[in-house]
This record gives sequence, structure tokens and C-alpha cells, in this order.
Amino acid sequence: MDLLTIYEQMGLSREVYSRGEAVLERLADRFRAIDQTAEANQAKVLLSMQKNRVGANHFAATTGYGYDDDGRERLEKVYAGVFHTEAALVRPQITCGTHALTVALSANLLPGDELLSPVGLPYDTLQEVIGIRPSPCSLAEYGVTYRQADLLPDGTFDYAAIRAAIHEKTRLITIQRSKGYATRPSFSVRQIGELIAFCKAVKPDVKIMVDNCYGEFVDLLEPSDIGADMTVGSLIKNPGGGLAPIGGYICGTRECVDRCAYRLSAPGLGQEVGANLGILPAFYQGFFLAPTVVAGALKGAIFAANLYEELGFRCIPAAAEPRNDIIQAVELGSEAAMRAFCSGIQAAAPVDSFAAPVPGDMPGYDSQVIMAAGTFVQGSSIELSADGPIRPPYAVYFQGGLTWQHAKLGILLSLQKMTDGGLAAL
Ligand SMILES: *Cc1c(COP(=O)(O)O)cnc(C)c1O
Repeated sequence: MDLLTIYEQMGLSREVYSRGEAVLERLADRFRAIDQTAEANQAKVLLSMQKNRVGANHFAATTGYGYDDDGRERLEKVYAGVFHTEAALVRPQITCGTHALTVALSANLLPGDELLSPVGLPYDTLQEVIGIRPSPCSLAEYGVTYRQADLLPDGTFDYAAIRAAIHEKTRLITIQRSKGYATRPSFSVRQIGELIAFCKAVKPDVKIMVDNCYGEFVDLLEPSDIGADMTVGSLIKNPGGGLAPIGGYICGTRECVDRCAYRLSAPGLGQEVGANLGILPAFYQGFFLAPTVVAGALKGAIFAANLYEELGFRCIPAAAEPRNDIIQAVELGSEAAMRAFCSGIQAAAPVDSFAAPVPGDMPGYDSQVIMAAGTFVQGSSIELSADGPIRPPYAVYFQGGLTWQHAKLGILLSLQKMTDGGLAAL
């Protein structure tokens, strides 16, 4: 049985398949560049594992307090080696990206301090953490104020507004690398570096945190390489490589990471406690695979943009633009189109392929959200997934794919469902 016969059994027509092949012919150079970045990042991870002398004994499970957990400590050194930071906190006790960011913020902001976002409104779930949308236990309740400088209409930094927003109380500046559920651009590490340099010139002792969600291994540099005091992300996104079933990381200065550890466990205990419960093989192996998994996801994002833009849909980033994260937004213009797109992604999944995604309420989000995710790890968005809030411009955010081949099929099936429903024309 050949490929097209198998694809036909999965509901993919020859017309949609051919359309995809025509688009792919133009992408060879970009795919080669992605493979080169993956090779360098793979080497970076390997070098750190080797330098830190990772051994089979480091995969052992610990329980209880988890004192003297060499595997856990070694993994944190491996992360610190890759991110080039003094310290790292990498734990299954950090439940998700929002939790990691919450730990980083609440550990490094005290009552009377002010937090500044110089890149506009932060990611939806962070709004409750900060108290932009009132929430019990928000930073606002603890007397931490918040200020924001919006981006200019062209998506660049408003340096005058940022300078004006930094004052005596400004203690921490949070920079979100990826666009999240906004339609602004995601920032390159170089752009973030310029912003950090500007902020530190205005106020040398201000701390900078970068929300690095979806950005890891897209570039050769990470925000920690260009001056961030804390670089923060989720293990069920890029750095978990699809294998980590939970977790988050904070890489940064010893001073900041120590405070994060005291906030996560307890003052006085810090990094010394936290049993690994047998999860370390997935953390190590996932980190090892992450550079190539991210490469596959990037190819999927570029393929999606090139396919959909040609059919008249606005894509962010645009088809020809360079990539700063693995997310591809496609403005579909209607709820019906969002449902069709997501049903195609779901139909391509190895798990729950028979399910129909429907919009629903999600904790931390203020509009209904539709999600397609037939994933091994619940809600994992380094696995092939698509989601978006049901609000204009009805943009679907597509990301992930543990293999490029799977990402490709998901995108083709999304287009199949759109054409079947009369929502896109080839
Ligand atoms: C996903 C994401 C988060 C939150 O991570 P969760 O693991 O979903 O809690 C925060 N910021 C950005 C930019 C993200 O993409």
C-alpha cells in the first residue's frame, strides 16, 4: 500500500495532498536552515550532558523529601549548561508554564514593588496572576503594582513609553517572547536583547524575566544568553521534547533562582527538597530530543503559513517571515472555520482521533477556547495541537508535532476539512 492510498483511507484527497507538495517544493532552503539550527542545539544539549557526566545512576527514582537527589541536581546543571546560567530550577513540582512564571514573579517581587511589561498585555493566564483581571492570591492582592507599555502599531517597542514607565519602584520587567493569543509579532532573541539593554541602561538594578514559552531551541541563542536574569518555560512545550509529562523550568542568576526555589518549596528548604518520583528519564530524554522535535514543529508552522497564505488567509507570522517561536496563527474569520480546522488536526492525532473539538470554558481564559489535541500528554502543545479563543479575528494558533511528518498530515487534514465544509477553496 502506498502513501496516497493510506492517506485516502484517512480522508485526505489527492487534490489537497498535491497542493501541499507544490508548497513544499519551495521550502527546501528554509528546512535546511532549520536542520542546521537543530544540529547546533543538539550539540549544545549533548555537550552539557557530557560535561556534567550524566550517568545511568541519575535516572533513579527518589521519594519522600528527596534529599541528596543527584539525578535532579544533575538535570538542573544540564539545563544551566544549555542556557548558560548560574543556576536552574527544573521540577515536576512546577505544574505548568503559568506556575513557573508565577513562582518567578512572586519570588522576586515584594509588597510595594512594581512589575512592568514593556511588550503590552501578557499571556491570558498571567493576567490573573498579576491581577490585571482580579483574582484571589494575585500579585496585586500582595501589594505589587503593575504597569504596561504597549507596543507601537507596527509591533515594535515604544522606547519612549518604556523609559517613562520605569521608575523607583520598578523591580522586575517581564518580557514575553512569543505572541501567545495575541496577533502581535513574536520577538527574536536579538530584539529581546536590545530591549533588555535599554531597560538596564535606564535602571541598572532592575531584574528581567523572559517568558520563553514556545521559544526554546528555535534559535541558537536563548534569552539567558543576552542578559535575562530569569528565563522561564514549560516542560510540556519545547524543552520537554514531548516526553516530559509535567514540569517547568527557571534558568537564571543564582540569586533569582534561589528565591524561586524558596518560593516553590519553603524558605530555608529551597532546592534541597523535591523528590523526583521516577520522572527523570523522561526529563533527560525529552531534553535530549527537544532540538529535533522543535525543528519538526517549526517546519510544520512554516508549511502551514505557506499553504494557508496562498489560499487568502492572513498568517502571523507571514509565510516568508523568519520564526521566533513554533506558533503559527492563521486568521480564519469565523467560528465555523475554526471548528473545521481543529477537527482536521484532531483527526490526524494518534490519540482521540475520533473526538470532535468543541469550544468550552477554560480556567484562566476570559473567552471560550477551542482546542484540538490528540496528545499522549494531556494538553501538551509541543505535540500537534491547535487552539484559539472564540473571538474576532477567529485566529487559530497551530503548534507542535513530535515529528514533521505528523505535523504535515495534520495541516493537510485541516485544509481538507475546510474545503469539505466550503470554508476554503483550492
Ligand atoms: C503556554 C504559555 C504560557 C503558560 O503555560 P501553561 O503551561 O499553559 O500554563 C505562558 N506564556 C506563554 C507565552 C505561553 O505560550
